[in-house]
Amino acid sequence: MTPDLLIRNAHALDPATGLDSPRDILIHHGRIAAIELPGILPAGPEELDATGLTLAPGFIDIHVHLREPGQTYKETIATGTRAAAAGGFTTVVAMPNTLPVNDSVASLHWMLSPARNAAVNLCAMPAATLGSLGETLSDYEALANAGAVGFTDDGKPVLDSDIMWAALVASARLGLPISQHAEDTRLTGGCSMNFGPVAFRLGLRGMTIEAESNIVERDIQLLRDIEKVEGLRPHLHVQHVSTAKALAAIRLAKQQGLHVTCEAAPHHFTLTDEALEHFDTNAKMNPPLRAESDRQAVIAAILDGTVDCIATDHAPHAAYEKEVEFERAPNGITGLETALGLALRILHRDHGLPLAKIVTLMSTNPAQLIKLHDRGNLKPGSHADLVLFAPAAAWTYSAEVSLSKSKNSPFDGAPMLGQIHTTLSEGRIVHRAS
Ligand SMILES: [Zn+2]
Repeated sequence: MTPDLLIRNAHALDPATGLDSPRDILIHHGRIAAIELPGILPAGPEELDATGLTLAPGFIDIHVHLREPGQTYKETIATGTRAAAAGGFTTVVAMPNTLPVNDSVASLHWMLSPARNAAVNLCAMPAATLGSLGETLSDYEALANAGAVGFTDDGKPVLDSDIMWAALVASARLGLPISQHAEDTRLTGGCSMNFGPVAFRLGLRGMTIEAESNIVERDIQLLRDIEKVEGLRPHLHVQHVSTAKALAAIRLAKQQGLHVTCEAAPHHFTLTDEALEHFDTNAKMNPPLRAESDRQAVIAAILDGTVDCIATDHAPHAAYEKEVEFERAPNGITGLETALGLALRILHRDHGLPLAKIVTLMSTNPAQLIKLHDRGNLKPGSHADLVLFAPAAAWTYSAEVSLSKSKNSPFDGAPMLGQIHTTLSEGRIVHRAS
């Protein structure tokens, strides 16, 4: 059992309770025991002086690839969650595109077992369809009982409308989201970047914005029809939205009262397809980096609340896999350790998004989305999943020192704002800046 810990003189920031002022916080048996104005709580056996630091509920990343089982040369649950802790994350949601695909209770149990040595709280979204093949639904009820927090075929869309209908109905009955990788793969075969002038110049085939927005619009129509026909209210979550057109459809659906949520990835609000000018495979991802107008649309949708969460889509690959011709390189970048630094630099400093809103996007909202009621807040009784960070600290990211097994980041050497100081998972210190 971890001993009691008193964190003193932190600036506590908790959008769930509206807290935004100095506090001492006492941790007992892995939970928040008390949170009071500085100086009220008695001195503890162990103390951490947090003067000058912001204390927030630990970040929750609802979209990470941990590569285990099957591709442990890229990442393991142990290494990926240590990278998460370094980025201030205290809960991560593992995507199911492992080898084999996580589509059964047995594989879900294996993944969530303490034997995997996760450094932080681990959740999983199993596959929406068996093998993520888009043909037969996995057993949602059994998976939900075993701890699934949603279902997704991420990496692939659920393309068939009838299957997506069935998936939304089955998940609605359990109160869980279907997370959709919105890509009409009938339009993106052989494409390795965004469609547009940069792709023309480089001589590469490009993915159109409609490949994303068509699926989003189709899914939103399914929500309307299911509500009418079945009397159910399914929850559609759109992953890593990258285009103005898809965001406009989501904004409208929200105004119409449909249960749609969405996430944005830091790379989509930071970079454009011009990062590919030199065929840098570390900037190759799916959905691809888009034009500046789409990047601005992602930022605008974050600012106006259309985007619910920041999710990294942390997607580690081995160096040799990325060191090939651009079109053959796998999609994806590592992202757990750069998320806060980019969010604070781009959204907070450049676009004036208040710090509390960053915490809302990275902790409060993702906790609500996957129904973690005793995480993502600083209420007494909640798990002591906490992050202490210096919001004004400027630093430079170096992929070389990443705790992830993989170093495939387009942000190597990039400026960051806001440095993680200490991360605590259930009261245990799981990362401390050296
Ligand atoms: Zn995806």
